Amino acid sequence: MKTLLLLVSILFITIPFCAQAQITQPEASEVWEPQPRVVSHDKNNVPSDAIVLFDGTNLDQWQSASSEEPAKWKVENGSMTVVKGTGDIATKEKFGSVQLHLEWRTPEVIEGEGQGRGNSGVFFQKRYEVQVLDNYQNKTYSNGQAGSVYKQYIPLVNACKAPGEWQTYDIIFEEPIFNDDGIKVRSGYLTVIHNGVLIQNHVEILGTTEYIGFPKNIAHEDDSIQLQDHGNPVSYRNIWVRKI
Ligand code: MG
Repeated sequence: MKTLLLLVSILFITIPFCAQAQITQPEASEVWEPQPRVVSHDKNNVPSDAIVLFDGTNLDQWQSASSEEPAKWKVENGSMTVVKGTGDIATKEKFGSVQLHLEWRTPEVIEGEGQGRGNSGVFFQKRYEVQVLDNYQNKTYSNGQAGSVYKQYIPLVNACKAPGEWQTYDIIFEEPIFNDDGIKVRSGYLTVIHNGVLIQNHVEILGTTEYIGFPKNIAHEDDSIQLQDHGNPVSYRNIWVRKI
């Protein structure tokens, strides 16, 4: 009996080593198909599979967020600028999950303070805001500062450049999923890179980003990307998305 036990033990110890020893070539664990499709870049570094939402020349991809009338923001010198009182603008196309690139600039001449200084915002599906704000040496509530998922997540750091300088957002938005009964069955997520710095790392969207009150989770379809008219002349340029 003892001999049998010893034999079994030896087998259990040696078999994995034998199995491991049989694979000696690195090629054995290489995968060659499929190959990722090639994405190239144009002279402005826009990926070839991106949808350009603003190339500096016109607002053809945009409309008023409330009335679907033509967008009334000012296009000049390759950028678009909020015209106070004309309202938020939204893409005509509706999107699900996307990778978004855009550049924004708050006014060089500082006016206002806190939330009143260079305030705008990028809303995904017209509901989930990543804050745009001049937070360069400008204190406000942390969960409402530039790069916050508004009133849900404080940015990991403050990567703001000075007013008047162009800044970049690269954002990964994963949409929330609702079932046929209107119940949220999977949360959405946001990852935000501000001027090359990670400031939101795959945070779970709690629901709509409300100014007053708490997040709501009401079922919805794909919807527009929306830019906010908060009354400050914030500018945008070089906006593109890739569908995920
Ligand atoms: Mg805002």
